Amino acid sequence: MSAEILDGRAIARQIQAEIGTATSQWTEVRGIKPCLAAVLVGDDPASQVYVRNKQRACARAGLESRLVRLPTSACQADVLKTVDALNHDAGVHGILVQLPLPEGLDGTCVLDAIDPLKDVDAFHPENVGRIAQGRPRFLPCTPHGIQQLLHRYGIVVSGKRVVIIGRSDIVGKPLALLLMQRTSTVGPESANGTVTVCHSRSPDLAGTARQADILVAAIGRPKYVGPEMVKPGATVIDVGINRTDEGLVGDVDFEAVRQVAGHITPVPRGVGPLTVSMLLYNTLQAARLQHPDRH
Ligand code: NAD
Repeated sequence: MSAEILDGRAIARQIQAEIGTATSQWTEVRGIKPCLAAVLVGDDPASQVYVRNKQRACARAGLESRLVRLPTSACQADVLKTVDALNHDAGVHGILVQLPLPEGLDGTCVLDAIDPLKDVDAFHPENVGRIAQGRPRFLPCTPHGIQQLLHRYGIVVSGKRVVIIGRSDIVGKPLALLLMQRTSTVGPESANGTVTVCHSRSPDLAGTARQADILVAAIGRPKYVGPEMVKPGATVIDVGINRTDEGLVGDVDFEAVRQVAGHITPVPRGVGPLTVSMLLYNTLQAARLQHPDRH
């Protein structure tokens, strides 16, 4: 058996086209474009690529984007001043601070300073709290992208056993919240999972993983998940992006696991492009929230 490959890039393009249509309708009525501002501190090459990809995606979908660059030498006060200016700029609807920040800067403090109505990464504690309570303002981009991918391939979450390896605030934890809720942006079939979160101190991780109908790897360890960790026919979602001598690889041993799984995401062209699409989705949502319809 060889797994069906879940084409994240194709689904991301589909979603971006939908956002493009919704954006042009909104822009026509309002006379303004939703605008995403990215703050990039320092010159980390991977961060530069991520920011460029986000800006290109904005342009394709008819959103405006701005880039504010600060040098590696920027201090905490410089970054906070930049965020404050964007918070008060009525022409900016969404703000993202590209992570990681250079050493010495306090990322949590910077993310906490973003206006929750412009927090399109959904990292602000107010927005995280709303997600936990099942009344989200913005959905976290990578988890929402995974939910959309499952939905658009007809893979039901409701009633399934989901195992997530990794408990980060960006992927593992918020994904667990989304998939265990009573419903989702695409209905209850894409939620209501029975979710287990594993991490570096979980006993018998392989045994737990093998019980999963849907297995998600988000740990940042190249090819960590092998076929012995996968139930035959399971859906395997690989969030990992690891730069190795072989090039970009995920957290899943793709060639070996695809022989066992029912569905699998590749790296690249799996989850990554969806993260960008859902960022655009949140930027349009932010613009709508800041310019509510008059009745
Ligand atoms: P992180 O680096 O913040 O945390 C890693 C998590 O994995 C921790 O919870 C840790 O407990 C767990 N972990 C580490 N080693 C483990 C092990 N041996 N066994 C079990 N658990 C282990 O995680 P992150 O920010 O979620 O990133 C994870 C990976 O996903 C990285 O490769 C990152 O580049 C990638 N990522 C991709 C996207 C995307 O859009 N595709 C988005 C975010 C992150």
